[in-house]
Amino acid sequence: MPDNDRFSLEGKIALVTGAGRGIGKAIAEGFVGAGAKVWLTDILKEEGESTAATLGMPFVQADLSQLGDIDRIIELVSAEEKRLDVLVNNAGLDRLASIGKFAPEDLDIVWYVNCRAPVLLVQGFLPLLRASQGASIINITSVHEAIPHPQNLSYNMSKAALAMFTKSMAQELSPEGIRINNIGPGAVETNINREILADIGHENFNKWIPIGRVAQTSEMVGPAIFLASDAASYVTGATLFADGGYLQNLVRYRLDV
Ligand code: NAD
Repeated sequence: MPDNDRFSLEGKIALVTGAGRGIGKAIAEGFVGAGAKVWLTDILKEEGESTAATLGMPFVQADLSQLGDIDRIIELVSAEEKRLDVLVNNAGLDRLASIGKFAPEDLDIVWYVNCRAPVLLVQGFLPLLRASQGASIINITSVHEAIPHPQNLSYNMSKAALAMFTKSMAQELSPEGIRINNIGPGAVETNINREILADIGHENFNKWIPIGRVAQTSEMVGPAIFLASDAASYVTGATLFADGGYLQNLVRYRLDV
């Protein structure tokens, strides 16, 4: 019989970035449902405040491309909490452009939010993570940590770098009892890709994704609860692809045999 208590987040203290909408919002809601106290942060004031108010949880409005805002999150949470059990680096964005059209600022903003901020949050929260009895860091990467998305080079690079950050930190932090893993979503119905889904057509994604459809944000919650929980006590340095088999579908024809 599995010990279901090991999947509980009862009593854990978590922080989720980009928690005002999309995948981050679903994860914050799921964590609260599993018993955690969750700090929410987002650049979006209205969405963040409203999600946090509904959950009865604290919210910090912050722009993760700004070093001062990252410091402020760390200071505010550290002033209130003695430990941090779960850190979810979920906030992210992309800037679609082919190589000839990239402005330096496009590269910078994607790098700052998708990769630099997670690194600095882990660094800044180290004292609180060390104070936890088994902290878990979850970085939301993407299938594009492993395979490129056309005309989305800064995003691809940022997610590959974030995945390598996870591997590096698994080596460095696991001896201290801090686990770190990635969740690699495939195509999830959210703001970041709503236009692409509409332009390319759901019917195409339904063909390309073995499970036969794009994901809903709620389908990222189970993997996040698992990695956050003590049930994953021996899992570190891994990417849990929650992609409906998308990555496995390089050969797309089927033989009638
Ligand atoms: P989303 O756009 O709904 O959510 C992204 C969140 O990040 C938003 O709340 C946004 O306000 C926040 N954010 C953006 N810039 C920020 C900044 N400068 N400072 C602070 N917060 C900022 O999209 P989503 O799909 O929910 O994305 C969540 C994560 O999932 C991202 O890291 C994204 O790369 C990843 N992901 C999404 C998909 C997908 O298909 N939707 C696939 C793979 C990976």
